[in-house]
Amino acid sequence: MRVTVIGAGIVGVCTAWSLAEAGCEVTVVERNGGVAQGTSYGNAGLVVPAYMGPWAAPGMPRRLLSMLFASDTPVRLRPSLDPALWRWAARWLGECRVANYRRNRERMQRLAFYSRDVLTEIRTRHAVAYERTEGLLQLLRGGRDSELAETTIAHLKETGVAHRILTAADCRLREPGLSDLDFVGGLYLPDGESGNCPLFARHLRNLCEARGVHFVFGTRVDRIVTEGDRVTLHTTRGEARGEARAEARSDASAGAPDGESSEVRRQPDAVVVAAGWASAALLRPLGVRLPLYPVKGYAASVAIREPTFAPIASVVDETYKVAIVRMGNRIRIAGTASLGDRTLALDSRDAERAFATLLKVVRDWFPGAARYQEASWWVGNRPMLPDGPPVLGPTLHPRVFMNVGHGSTSWAMAPGSGRIVADLVTRQEPAIDLDGLTLARYG
Ligand SMILES: Cc1cc2nc3c(=O)[nH]c(=O)nc-3n(C[C@H](O)[C@H](O)[C@H](O)COP(=O)(O)OP(=O)(O)OC[C@H]3O[C@@H](n4cnc5c(N)ncnc54)[C@H](O)[C@@H]3O)c2cc1C
Repeated sequence: MRVTVIGAGIVGVCTAWSLAEAGCEVTVVERNGGVAQGTSYGNAGLVVPAYMGPWAAPGMPRRLLSMLFASDTPVRLRPSLDPALWRWAARWLGECRVANYRRNRERMQRLAFYSRDVLTEIRTRHAVAYERTEGLLQLLRGGRDSELAETTIAHLKETGVAHRILTAADCRLREPGLSDLDFVGGLYLPDGESGNCPLFARHLRNLCEARGVHFVFGTRVDRIVTEGDRVTLHTTRGEARGEARAEARSDASAGAPDGESSEVRRQPDAVVVAAGWASAALLRPLGVRLPLYPVKGYAASVAIREPTFAPIASVVDETYKVAIVRMGNRIRIAGTASLGDRTLALDSRDAERAFATLLKVVRDWFPGAARYQEASWWVGNRPMLPDGPPVLGPTLHPRVFMNVGHGSTSWAMAPGSGRIVADLVTRQEPAIDLDGLTLARYG
């Protein structure tokens, strides 16, 4: 079976891998010059199924309101007339009810635990190294933080997930680089892990190519056209950038000289849409109206100057929802959420304020680890659905499938959702129950 995957983010690459393992002839079409150059590039790298839950949670609307007016807030809403934003926000509010929250969290965690097993299998079977660390330490400054941690702890007890409640002194034993900041303690999840998502994607791309997967970079899918039982992809090949230039030239179906663009039509047996936040526009003409909205987040990466004062693994500041993660000899600081502005600029007022928040948090906890003024900055759009879980599998057309809407947790869910979608394309029974993880939940 010839399958084309649209998008070479972490979700697309994992899907391509599982399809190739299932014996399909796979082509991946990506508009960028390589794998994981969209939102998968700069994320925090956390894979912590037990910590995972939807952003639409009880108490969040009130908490958000108070955050919106703070100066170093992790959440920003830019006033916008975009009807998609207001429709998304209305649905998000509805999902904050206790019953909906619990249902959505169970769906996300079901997929995330399965996905971690698949990730572990790939890592061990193919000896993939991607700057992995073990354990997650959630740091609690006090006040509202501690109340929220109590709810999390109750859930961890109920579901039998390993965890330890730590005093501030215990936290410092685990992370000796922590500053003298006064805080109440932490919650430690030994089964959590982190890793460099784009590095993993590059390894997986190599494994894919060894299995015959063909990557077509520098090529955009403009339209998915269905006619009866057939599906045709209209693609435009532009000038490929960087490492992909040579690969794009070696694409047999394209023939444009550099700098020009050419349109190519492809007719595979099946298509999987894994185009991140851009998936909604590709799926709309097929009658699939997903309430997918881009929620911007920022990150910084900086070389460690003094390892004694740097994090050993991953910590999350619960008040600011900012992750500080060790990635090899660098620190990644990631978080914040901005709604209402789809542009990905690093020189905007929004970016300036987000960077100030990230810098404040990392300087509070690990002030001596790096020269933070030398950090490189990044911004990406999370493909968010208002309720939280992604949508996997069939669309309304028998040859078109999707793997979209993983929001703030694609890296943690991609290996599992890739395998599930490959199972559905090749008509195999997925290993977990898909209730609430398919298009059926939107009616
Ligand atoms: C600040 C921040 C921190 C995060 N931290 C974490 C974390 O700790 N753990 C975690 O699990 N997740 C985290 N995430 C979320 C995670 O990064 C995203 O959910 C994930 O990268 C989305 O993966 P994707 O493959 O769906 O999308 P993308 O990585 O955006 O990939 C989609 C690809 O499709 C391509 N594409 C789009 N349209 C077309 C088209 N028409 N034709 C051809 N190609 C197309 C794009 O170029 C892109 O390469 C974080 C996100 C942010 C912003």
